[in-house]
Amino acid sequence: MKVKAQISMVLNLDKCIGCHTCSVTCKQTWTNRPGAEYMWFNNVETRPGVGYPKKWEDESHYKGGWKLNRKGKLELRAGNKLNKVALAKIFYNPDMPNLDDYYEPWTYDYQTLFGKERKHQPVARAKSQITGEYMKLNNGPNWDDDLAGSDRSFGEDPNMQNIESDIKGNFEKTFMMYLPRLCEHCLNAACVASCPSGAMYKRDEDGIVLVDQERCRGWRFCMTGCPYKKVYFNWKTNKAEKCTFCYPRIEEGLPTVCSETCVGRIRYIGVILYDADRVAEACEEPDDTKLYERQLDLFLDPNDPEVIKQALVDGVDMETIRCAQKSPIYKMAVEQKIAFPLHPEYRTMPMVWYVPPLSPIMNYFEGKNSIKYPEMIFPAINEMRIPVEYLANLLTGGNTEVIKNALYKLAMMRLYMRARTSGKDFDA
Ligand code: SF4
Ligand code: SF4
Repeated sequence: MKVKAQISMVLNLDKCIGCHTCSVTCKQTWTNRPGAEYMWFNNVETRPGVGYPKKWEDESHYKGGWKLNRKGKLELRAGNKLNKVALAKIFYNPDMPNLDDYYEPWTYDYQTLFGKERKHQPVARAKSQITGEYMKLNNGPNWDDDLAGSDRSFGEDPNMQNIESDIKGNFEKTFMMYLPRLCEHCLNAACVASCPSGAMYKRDEDGIVLVDQERCRGWRFCMTGCPYKKVYFNWKTNKAEKCTFCYPRIEEGLPTVCSETCVGRIRYIGVILYDADRVAEACEEPDDTKLYERQLDLFLDPNDPEVIKQALVDGVDMETIRCAQKSPIYKMAVEQKIAFPLHPEYRTMPMVWYVPPLSPIMNYFEGKNSIKYPEMIFPAINEMRIPVEYLANLLTGGNTEVIKNALYKLAMMRLYMRARTSGKDFDA
């Protein structure tokens, strides 16, 4: 066993109101400068939707992350190895998102607002921040904001990218939810593995993944390698950039900007201890539906005396161990099993986890005074507007049972709190 500490985040999706405050405050702090206009270290996607960059989950679109080869060994997907073919791809890399998948950053020509007298309400024309030319807007970081989709295309299109036809064909089954996204600061980071110059690295003390700006050569293999598409290329400096987990703030004992400013108070930050010796083996689990459990199994109880002893031997300091003991991450992920990783089947062992949303399950209980809670909650979960299969596809590689159990627990907790405040029976 080799004990390491990892800083991580859990986001409770039940509480996200899609206000984008986190994205805006992050941008104001970190990427409000030339060359970084299109970078959103934190972005909030409306699901089901195309996401940012467009269709980032579509494997046939960008081949990032890891796959198991024929011998069952882990290897990076195409486009990441530093060889002649890969070098040629620097100039034409089909697996890398391009400007059309993000958007051409724009501003508005405010002169067109107040210029001539007009019959209709004036509209400011969009102007490229790169060329200064007028432009037609066709994409953006939250282009499909608040657009719902349906589960009609399950099976053929598990990520439900095809939302336009869904809405036309199946209006009564549409649903939406918000998914705030940032770099996952993965335990087995594909960006680090694919960087030929060693610029991308994972900090030993807390696992934050950073880019050394001095060493980066702008080859962009990290952009191809990251399956979450959370590395960006600065077109002014020609270097890669990404979320830093606000490490200068973390080092001062402050939370990340997105967490501090989150309106819904959905974000929990903490340290978790894990067994670094077993990461590689866990990543090679052939069954996608088991990867969540394999990752869970890596996490160590920070109150176990054996773990503490080994952590000290392995160089984790006592202050970090105390942080792990106070952290909500172990409780939510391991003890309660209500938080899950985003797409564990990408095999990078992501460390930003999510509590799945219940909404609007509580409608099911409206007007019922005496409820046999356990018997009623499971049917209610099956009738949830957001299909359990959709959540499982997003968070557990398709394992629906663990999602159902988490939703059951969350519903029980909410019903209990409601009963306590409204004086109703809680017959659990
Ligand atoms: Fe690297 Fe972050 Fe992408 Fe993981 S999510 S591969 S740490 S950039
Ligand atoms: Fe959701 Fe919080 Fe971001 Fe608002 S600030 S969109 S509530 S994560």
